[in-house]
Amino acid sequence: MAWQIAGNERALHALRAAVDGGSPAHAYLFLGPEHTGRATAAIRLAQALNCTVDDPPCGECTQCRRIEAGIHSDVVTLTLESDDNVVRKNISESQVDELRGALTLKAYEGRTRVAIINPADAMSESAQNKLLLTLEEPAPSVAIILIATEDEKLLETIRSRCARIDFGLVAADEIKAALIERGATLDNARLLARLSGGRPGWAIDALSDPRVLERRREVLDAARSLVRLPMADRMELAEKLSDAFKRDRDAVLHQLDEWAAWWRDVLLVQSGASDRVANLDHDRELQEDASSHSRAEIAAFLQAIIETRTYLVENVQSRIALDALMLAAP
Ligand SMILES: [Zn+2]
Repeated sequence: MAWQIAGNERALHALRAAVDGGSPAHAYLFLGPEHTGRATAAIRLAQALNCTVDDPPCGECTQCRRIEAGIHSDVVTLTLESDDNVVRKNISESQVDELRGALTLKAYEGRTRVAIINPADAMSESAQNKLLLTLEEPAPSVAIILIATEDEKLLETIRSRCARIDFGLVAADEIKAALIERGATLDNARLLARLSGGRPGWAIDALSDPRVLERRREVLDAARSLVRLPMADRMELAEKLSDAFKRDRDAVLHQLDEWAAWWRDVLLVQSGASDRVANLDHDRELQEDASSHSRAEIAAFLQAIIETRTYLVENVQSRIALDALMLAAP
């Protein structure tokens, strides 16, 4: 087994060289957009540091298999999800404390203890300061992998102690090839690669889990029906989205991304560039929307969606931003 990561050759090359050279860094920062292979690369690195064959990671030995299954006692992951399925707002100081305790113990099952923190940019400042103590005095046979989207949310003192590996969006052709390798038909691979927006992780999830495409259909239906709603209903929708945003920011931001992707496609159809649309499987609906609205209306709405997203990220009051978006819809 190779590393099985679509695209991001430079990142993989750096990791392979570190493993082959026998002197990997004590701490890594895997930086880049979501679903671009960062978490998979972290698992592969953990496997490579514990694998028992010549060309690690083999994916076959007991070490590799137990790490892949998430049951290896020396590989710990800190996330926002708690045991009772609640999504926390940040990774707390006490979580990092517990991790630091675990990292002082010698590897028990394998050779190297590996801690994966994902998303590391969700660590509170006090959590980061605690982690810094560990980074300042790296123990032998310990590797810490921080997975992050926004490095400016990490303390400079943390960043400077990590070997940084950049991940980026991946070309549609490479994602298509990765999907075909995993058993997708040519048509399905082409569609998912387009829809993924350069995120192979999303496309691979969508291939194996039909709920991903179902959710997309719901979001698209909302994107299309919004423009047919009377204003009172639109305001109600703004309120709902604003409440949802307080519970799960990423879900609402993702929804806005999907809306933007839809109306961008409608603009492409209006410009006679139907071959470039992402939503390849909704040709008829795109044509319909393209003929029901003027180019100017759609361009203005698309711009409003993009601006709203920026406001939400910058923590402008979500209700006000979303109300304004509803007013901008054609
Ligand atoms: Zn192995």
